[in-house]
Formats: sequence, C-alpha cells, structure tokens
Amino acid sequence: MAQAIGKWSYTKGLHDLGNGCYAYLQPDGGWGWSNAGLVVDGGESMLVDTLFDLKLTREMLDTMRRAEPKAAARIGALVNTHSNGDHCFGNQLVTGAEIISSKACAEEMELEGGAKRLADSKRNASQMGETGEFFARILAPFDFEGIDVSMPTLTFEGEMVRRVGNKTVRLIQVGPAHTRGDVLAYVPDDRVIFTGDILFIHGHPIIWVGPVGNWIKACQLMLDLDVETVVPGHGPITDKKGVAEVKGYLEYITREARHRYDADMPVFEAAQDISLADYSSWGDAERIVINVATLYSEFSGGTAKIPGMGEMWGLMARIAKSQHA
Ligand SMILES: [Zn+2]
Repeated sequence: MAQAIGKWSYTKGLHDLGNGCYAYLQPDGGWGWSNAGLVVDGGESMLVDTLFDLKLTREMLDTMRRAEPKAAARIGALVNTHSNGDHCFGNQLVTGAEIISSKACAEEMELEGGAKRLADSKRNASQMGETGEFFARILAPFDFEGIDVSMPTLTFEGEMVRRVGNKTVRLIQVGPAHTRGDVLAYVPDDRVIFTGDILFIHGHPIIWVGPVGNWIKACQLMLDLDVETVVPGHGPITDKKGVAEVKGYLEYITREARHRYDADMPVFEAAQDISLADYSSWGDAERIVINVATLYSEFSGGTAKIPGMGEMWGLMARIAKSQHA
C-alpha cells in the first residue's frame, strides 16, 4: 500500500498545496486512478487533467468549486498532460474552457477514438478468458457510457507559457515518452509541478511509446528545476526524491532489458527474468511486459520481434493474477 510522503497525506480528494495550487488525488493510483491539479489566481483558474469517467470528474469539479467558489466556478483553461483516458475522459464537463495540449497529444487523442473502445472491452470481457478477467477487474470501477471527449482547442509544440491571474504556468512538452505528447505543467512562483504520467509514484510506470531516453531526460529536467512539490499522474504527492526514484527505475530496466536483448532472450522471457525485488512495494508490476517490449523495439530500431498487444495483455493478466492470488 502506498505511503504518504513528507507532510502530504495520500487520501482521496482535494489537497491545498498553498498559494492557490491544489492537487486532486485518487488512491490507490493503480490502473485508471489518476490525479489532477488546479491553479488559481486573481479569480482565474487552470485545471490540469480531468478523470477517467464523468461521475468522478463531476465529483472532482464540485469539490474544487466548494474550495474556490469564485475562481473555479468557470474554469478558464484545461490542460491535458497526455492522451490517456484517465486524464481526458471528463473534458466535456469543463464547459467553455480553452483545452490546451501538445499537438502530438491532440493527434493521439483523435487516433485513440475516445471511450468507445474501453466500453466495448468492458462489455466483452467475459468472452476474453484470462485477459478479460483482468480487464473486468481494472475497468470495473469506471463507467464509460456517455463520454464524448472534448478535443483540445489550442495546441503547441515545445513550450507554452500561460498566465493564470498574475501567475505564470510553463507548459513543457517532454514527450514522446509515456505517450506521444506528454506535457509537464510547472508553476515556478509556487515551486509546484504537475507531471502527468511522467511520474507514477509507488506504481510501475508504463512506457507505451518511448523513447525511454526522453523520459529519463524529463526526470532530469524536473530535478534541475526549482521545485518543492511534485504532483504525479498517479500516486501520492512527492518531491524530487520521487522523481529520482522513477529515473532510477527507468535506468535500471533499460540496462537489464539491454543485457537480455543482446543475449537474444525473447520479450516475454526477459520481462519475467528481470528482478523487480527493489520495487516490490510498487503496484502494477505486470507493466514490465510493455516496458520490455517498448525497449526491445527501441534497441532494434523497430525491427525486434514484439508480441502483439493481445498477447501482451494476456501475459500482463497472468502476472497480475499471480500477484493478486
Ligand atoms: Zn494515467
């Protein structure tokens, strides 16, 4: 179970970081249980990410409006840190807001085609064997009906600087890494950063896209910034120690996967052969399957033999089941 870090408790709901920055947390931070952020100043507001379904997002917006009746009554800007549904499926509820993302994130959102795919997986899970059981378990808490994702209305590449009242927010594109267009939202005046899924704290990161080098660079960038409070995409609020741990994990699995790639070990064997003993307290260890596959693809310049997505979900289901037993 994830522990609180420093002075921040890891409980569901809104956490006031001081000076008009808030984190909205959803323990336990596993599949779909994402965090969001709110920045307010001078009666204006910026929301960083929505949640995985409409009910959860509505509950979050209500909580924010209670805490900041004036500034959060009408949210002026919504930033999507990346395209995964647990960070944008509630977009349609933030009516009237400008929706900002990287250009690559917006393109990926179009490609992923919204919530329908997940609603279908959930409906068909009972016919999908072990993989279906896994889908059913991780998707059970969420309701994908009625979701019609509002797309970004303003995109950028590289970096964009926005004002919220008198406050500056730097939106820094660091992807492709976790997804194609990951963005960090950094509030220099408050020494706060919202990282999206560039950080999973006390959970295994999942490298959907890579290259892992970009992700490691993003961690280094955060370590070099003047930052005190770090709000990850999943898990408890942390500080630079949490950033360093994720960087260490990425460097470790890159090294370990490389040895096995050089020895011609197949992806599935390598995924099960790499020791995760140092990360035994982190959740969702099955993600090592996707991570090794992405790394092999990267090492080979795209020519390595990578199992299909269906097969990979199958192995993840098996690993997850063995850990839940
Ligand atoms: Zn996420």
